[in-house]
Amino acid sequence: MEHKITLYNTLTHKKEPLEPREGNNVTIYACGPTVYSSAHLGHARSAVTFDIIRRFLKKMGYGVTYVRNFTDIDDKIINKATEAGVPAEEISEKYTREYSKDMADLGVSEPDFEPKVTEHLPEIIELISSIIDNGYGYVSGGDVFFSVKKFPGYGKLSRRSLEDMSEESSRIDLNEQKEDPLDFALWKGAKPGEPSWDSPWGPGRPGWHIECSAMSMKYLGSSFDIHGGGKDLIFPHHENEIAQSEAGTGGGFAKYWVHNGMILINREKMSKSLGNIFNIGQALKKWNKESIRLFFASHHYQNPADFSEQAMDEAEAALDRLYITIDRIDKLNKTKPGEDKTLEESLAGFKTKWVQAMCDNFNTAGALGNLFDLVKAVNRSIDTHGFTLTLDKVRKEILEFGDLMNILQEEPEQYLKSGKSSGKDLDITEDEIQRLIEERKAERREKNWAKADEVRDFLNAKGITIEDKPQGTVWRVDG
Ligand SMILES: [Zn+2]
Repeated sequence: MEHKITLYNTLTHKKEPLEPREGNNVTIYACGPTVYSSAHLGHARSAVTFDIIRRFLKKMGYGVTYVRNFTDIDDKIINKATEAGVPAEEISEKYTREYSKDMADLGVSEPDFEPKVTEHLPEIIELISSIIDNGYGYVSGGDVFFSVKKFPGYGKLSRRSLEDMSEESSRIDLNEQKEDPLDFALWKGAKPGEPSWDSPWGPGRPGWHIECSAMSMKYLGSSFDIHGGGKDLIFPHHENEIAQSEAGTGGGFAKYWVHNGMILINREKMSKSLGNIFNIGQALKKWNKESIRLFFASHHYQNPADFSEQAMDEAEAALDRLYITIDRIDKLNKTKPGEDKTLEESLAGFKTKWVQAMCDNFNTAGALGNLFDLVKAVNRSIDTHGFTLTLDKVRKEILEFGDLMNILQEEPEQYLKSGKSSGKDLDITEDEIQRLIEERKAERREKNWAKADEVRDFLNAKGITIEDKPQGTVWRVDG
């Protein structure tokens, strides 16, 4: 590999070089949805994050095997089915179909494997048997539990101590079948009316965590490269996955643990109780998929992403700016190509910079910054020189970048007329806007408020909204 990729590993709390176990092939497992309700923006963010990581690795010449599961049997599914008076699979199938459609609508590529829990009972039962044989699991009534205190590395991912966890769980968990409050279920004995499968311990169904261990190992081997998911899954889900996998095989499990940050809605945590959960379907009715992807990519995947109408307006305006720039290139009179050495220089460093940003722990926000720097240079070049041959090369490279993020996939002219964009073609250049913003600033400094407002009104008339923020005045194309 020409470039060194580093990624942040939650397990070691460090950025580490990506060194796949087998040559140039990277194996990735990411936890998928529990299919009992519509998927929300948190699911979308996780899916888009790993989609972009996968695209980037492929672009850098790696082979990638990507697995994302469906949890299609679970308490929540059973409860919802009971409430509705329908079989559990009716619920799980409905939301599995909906999730697949959401992913397609968001432009997320299909994983190489999409295993479902209900289709992997033999593998799950085999793994539980090994855990019991190795002395880490015990049968109690019709249930099987994992003995947390027998596994020496428990807590290594979430960095919690057994003492803290014991205190926490003894207050909330009073399951009398367990030998210790910290233990968790590998297998749950069937209750009347619940879906169940035969096992050596009687009829029942898998606990939540064991499925991801069994299915990841089936498709990727007992040890693989990257295990991903949202930060909310670190404890207990991923902690438990490590414990039961290593207890079952006696070897190591995933090498790198990669976790994406949460979605906030207007700076608040997204939660059922706050009633601020945005479904993917709802979001896609309001904003086009490329703006949503651009919104995610403009945040570092490890950080929280604050979703709001305003943030999405900004993402739409940013996407428009990209399309408008390409459209401008397309519409130039190309009969007399001039020269622009400065643009040639900007272009020369462009790819190196964004590849570097992506190699550094998949910094999509940094890479996008490089793109917008180039776009600025392009618009300046068009304003000054009109068409130059460099612009054709620029166009190609912008679109190549678009493929990485899976944006800019539409024909610019059509996109701009489609109503997906803010729909405004600018008849003012970026330099002109910047100049007017400076002019307004000067007028304000002199307390010439009326003149300052005149400048603002002029920009408004051109379809430009300006806003005064602590870091300075910013502008966007009206939505
Ligand atoms: Zn999982």
